[in-house]
Amino acid sequence: MKNSQSNKICTRCVADTTIPNISFDKEGVCNFCYLHNEMEKEYPQGKIGAQKLKEIVQEIKNKGQGKKYNCIVGVSGGRDSSFLLYMAVKLGLKPLAVHFDNGWDSPIAVTNIKKSLEKLKIDLETIVVNWEEFKDLQISYLKASVPDAEIPTDVGILGTLHRVAIKEGIKYILNGHSFRTEGVQPLGWTYMDGKYIVAIQKKFGKYPLKTYPNVNLSDLAEVTWQKIKTVPLINYVEYNHTKVQKILEKELDWTYYGGHHQESYYTNFFQSYLLPKKFGIDKRKIEYSALIRSGQMTRENALLKIKTAPVPYEDEMINYVISKLWMTRSEFNKIMALPAKTFHDYPTYYPLIRAFKWPMKMTYKLNLFPKLLYQKLFPKG
Ligand SMILES: [Zn+2]
Repeated sequence: MKNSQSNKICTRCVADTTIPNISFDKEGVCNFCYLHNEMEKEYPQGKIGAQKLKEIVQEIKNKGQGKKYNCIVGVSGGRDSSFLLYMAVKLGLKPLAVHFDNGWDSPIAVTNIKKSLEKLKIDLETIVVNWEEFKDLQISYLKASVPDAEIPTDVGILGTLHRVAIKEGIKYILNGHSFRTEGVQPLGWTYMDGKYIVAIQKKFGKYPLKTYPNVNLSDLAEVTWQKIKTVPLINYVEYNHTKVQKILEKELDWTYYGGHHQESYYTNFFQSYLLPKKFGIDKRKIEYSALIRSGQMTRENALLKIKTAPVPYEDEMINYVISKLWMTRSEFNKIMALPAKTFHDYPTYYPLIRAFKWPMKMTYKLNLFPKLLYQKLFPKG
């Protein structure tokens, strides 16, 4: 039996002690709620948010004058990226849509992308990953036994956006992340960097990475040198899931796929099977907590939902993932049974990042480094 101490849950949201580095104040409010309050100050809504958004949009327009595109939007067919694209067009921007095709898109996602682009008259650049190489990297991450098994996609998306921005001379990448609906993933649940990718593939993979769009230090240096900025546009506007979905369905003939990040078969497997089954990680706690803080869900409802299993997974889905990765069931079972590890067990840039903690604090205070990223990398407590 776990004692009540080990099961402590925030009195404001539903974040609990299964989350690494969580801490609580005297009233039992967690550090993630405090982080949310900080973010609210950083990205205000209402009049001030509208003014800030206006200034950013003007800046993007000025910098991209005379160009065919003035910003890039990464699209997945999911709600956030579809809305971001819609919003960019409504604000009078000229986005180029970019899609990282990792081979796992669901048919609904593909149709959503196609319809949105047609309706909004936006050009699309798709980067199709080398499947043999990518599949091998995904298997390597499963063998590494870390909860970061989805970062080959996340890093691949980032690397693709960087490459297209550099190639096309576009200075702004719009970001569809909303802290009000998605929250901030704790470091122990998601960590990503390019060195980590290379290290895992070297240790567990069959092939070296030749075409995979990785993001290593030299890529980051190039992006900084070229003054390519990432703008979290959605954070400046009211972002309500129900309202946004209605707009997308009406305006873009968009279809809901049934859950957060369920637009990809692998993400579905990752969030509803691998993470909860193997690592005891239920990411809904982060998402629901964010929705509670932004008034889009009640705490009672979230607590009730969390009691039920994460998105019910189907055997069919697991079999599909196993067969697509060309594994046998027994190979897969062996991987599932491996003891859980973390990114601290492998070479990453993290020790280097830690060594630069103070300079980074200075740079975020000077608004040169995202405060959110700093707070994620150096959690309090
Ligand atoms: Zn909380």
